[in-house]
Amino acid sequence: MYRRSRLREAFNASRATNHLVARFGAVPVLFSGVDELFHTDPPPDFSRARIARVAVERGIESARDGLIEHALTYRIDDDQTAIGDRVRVPLGRGNKPAEGVVIRVGGIELLDGLDPRKVKAIVARTGSRLPASLIALAEWMAVYYVCPLGMVLATMMPAAVKKGVGLKTTTLLQRADAPPELPEGSTKAFRSAWARLLAADTAAFPADPRTLAATLELSPAAIKKLTAAGLLIATTKRTLTSTAPQESASGPVAPRPTLTTEQHAAVEGVCADLGRFHVHLLRGVTGSGKTEVYLRVIEAAMARGKTAIVLVPEIALTPQTSRRFLDRFGPGRVAVLHSGLTASQRHGQWAACATGAVRVVVGARSAIFAPLPDLGLIVVDEEHDSSYKQDQLPRYHARDVAVKRGHLEGLPVLLGSATPSLESWANARVNKAGIGKYRLWTLATRATGAPMPPVEIVDLAMERRVRAAQAGPGDRHLHLVGPTLERALGDTLDAGGQAILLLNRRGYANYLCCPDPKCGYLMHCRDCDATMIYHLADSARGLSAGGFVRCHHCLAEQLLPRKCPDCGKAINTFGLGTQRVEEELERKFAIPHGLRIGTTLLRVDGDTMRSARDYFDALGRFADGSVRVLLGTQMIAKGLDFPNVRLVGVVHADTALSLPDFRALERTFQLVSQVAGRAGRGKEAGRVIVQTMEPRSPAIVLAAAHDYEKFADQELAIRTRAGLPPVGRMARVVCRDEDHAKAHASAGAIADALQDAINKLPKDSGGVRLKGPMPCPISRVAAQYRVAIEILAQTRGVVQTVLAHARAQGLLKSDQHTAIDVDPVALL
Ligand code: ADP
Ligand code: ZN
Repeated sequence: MYRRSRLREAFNASRATNHLVARFGAVPVLFSGVDELFHTDPPPDFSRARIARVAVERGIESARDGLIEHALTYRIDDDQTAIGDRVRVPLGRGNKPAEGVVIRVGGIELLDGLDPRKVKAIVARTGSRLPASLIALAEWMAVYYVCPLGMVLATMMPAAVKKGVGLKTTTLLQRADAPPELPEGSTKAFRSAWARLLAADTAAFPADPRTLAATLELSPAAIKKLTAAGLLIATTKRTLTSTAPQESASGPVAPRPTLTTEQHAAVEGVCADLGRFHVHLLRGVTGSGKTEVYLRVIEAAMARGKTAIVLVPEIALTPQTSRRFLDRFGPGRVAVLHSGLTASQRHGQWAACATGAVRVVVGARSAIFAPLPDLGLIVVDEEHDSSYKQDQLPRYHARDVAVKRGHLEGLPVLLGSATPSLESWANARVNKAGIGKYRLWTLATRATGAPMPPVEIVDLAMERRVRAAQAGPGDRHLHLVGPTLERALGDTLDAGGQAILLLNRRGYANYLCCPDPKCGYLMHCRDCDATMIYHLADSARGLSAGGFVRCHHCLAEQLLPRKCPDCGKAINTFGLGTQRVEEELERKFAIPHGLRIGTTLLRVDGDTMRSARDYFDALGRFADGSVRVLLGTQMIAKGLDFPNVRLVGVVHADTALSLPDFRALERTFQLVSQVAGRAGRGKEAGRVIVQTMEPRSPAIVLAAAHDYEKFADQELAIRTRAGLPPVGRMARVVCRDEDHAKAHASAGAIADALQDAINKLPKDSGGVRLKGPMPCPISRVAAQYRVAIEILAQTRGVVQTVLAHARAQGLLKSDQHTAIDVDPVALL
């Protein structure tokens, strides 16, 4: 349906174009710069007109008769504009300037019946050019993720590139080869300037205006007048002034290790596919040397003159990671795109990619759009990571876009993880014929020979009873760190080791309530269906009492109420957060071990780490040993490789388990496995302690046993029974409105449209289910009611057909009230 309509689009733009002209208004005025503003005559020869289709960034999309149009038609008046150019075009009756990207260039066949006199011209080229391969990728994304094409294209180019940050314009003046006539009625001064310029030595040209004025002893105003009169001809050049970011390449370069047999097999396997599309999944336990495999495959691609993209989760873009790529390939050839770059550095790096000066790009989600020529390989590290999914338009998953880009450009895609997503795992499982869609490579042991750390599961309920029996009557503290973890941390610090403690919840306490059960007051956000979280104020010297309460959804804040608003009793704070653990650790370990908040004990979460720089500094201090304990949220669970970490503690493994999301178990398994993998990477053995209220949950038991395959197979069986992804495919629509009835009404209308599409499906489409409209698990955020609809089908093709049908009827559109999420990763 939609797919077919897109094919037709290329041949048959007329109807829709006419429609758009009608809709957005066209005036019979040719608009191609100031000079022509008052002409109404068409250019004499239309048969040779060059025509462009432009997708406007603000995302104009219209549906009519089952066709979806996302581009407008314009005339090209220069001989340079090409596919991928970012251009400014006049829009609507008022010719309001709008930015867009040229997606097609041709002759009058693109007009297809449209009156050429009504076609306005592109005003200017602005910014840079996207390679044609990315245009094709954008077109796929616009369909797949139900997003206007212009908006997809807008995300592909960094803002710094669009705005031209760091560009300097220089003007050079040349004397006209054939001097024009001296204008009549020129003043005496002007005539003398004219003569002096004609007499000047040719060696004086070209020159910038200031130099030329100085050489000829003329005023800048005279130079301007001579230029206006045509005796001087100006050319402008835009150059990037940005410098490459400072790379921290100090210290000895790590030697190239000899590959293990398993690594060798994986490298050979992927290299065999260089030059053609195939997806490879590399499952390797933490520390098994996956990065080394990436480095070798990239090397092989580069030896063939190809470039490579490496995606890592934003949080893994540490100097440690960058260093390994910079060391191996040389600073000038690697671009590391992290959030700490300045806008002009970002622009500089993008430009260096586009020219092919840079051969390897390492970056987070959006690096998948790096404009590299000769792309030969894409690596997605930690492919299971949910930060690859963008939670605003376009709601794409960078791993899936990577696979598509690999497909379009004919190159292998290498996905790596210790705990692959069930999506990728399902694709790598072999069928009866022994064939998997993806090829699977396994690294079962650590590359350094270090054993996987033993993981102890500690039952928090039991520990609390032990603690209660031991504690004297005077101990009124809440203990988040149980006796086992407390002892282990003491031992680790005694032995000179370092520790990582994980708690995936920020703040001090996540419940503020009345102590009187008869009252039952619990503080909620005024605008969200969520409890308020208590935060202590972070001061330079650690935590200070008082503090405030904050909603983690809409970020509303207020002072901590002292009294219950309903009955006047003093308010209680319950629950847990990283700040509370921090306070407890300092209380317990300050005297014996000198653990001090902010110096030897560092909390790493979204509240303390305001920028990439903060985070890199923290890791630097942990690496040099001055910080002994890192306490943090999932930020510290990934990718860190510090040999002296001998203890990893999970303070509360259950933070994700109880979420109303079918991926709760998978998330918990991944988090526990990842953080456990930080322990025992050096010569000293590591130890991992996992505190939990659910010591028998398979997610925790199997993560502790380092048994990914068993977990994945059990979980896949559950998903199969329930018809949930990855066994089936899902799309979700969330309608938001301040008005409860409106949110439900628009969800109802969309559900009807989707049901209509389902009814029209061919018989062999398998069971398709529509769930909802129903309130989202978090039914209100920032004063907006949220109502969800879910489509579940056996294949992505069926989901796509249903969405496309509703979209082409104009009944399904992404806007501020409607979020369409294809392959959602979070269902809150
Ligand atoms: P992963 O990415 O799987 O977590 P890394 O690539 O970071 O693993 O490797 C873990 C450690 O093992 C690193 O310090 C790395 O230098 C080392 N390493 C990797 N491959 C080998 C090898 N073949 N022989 C010895 N050490 C290796
Ligand atoms: Zn709120």
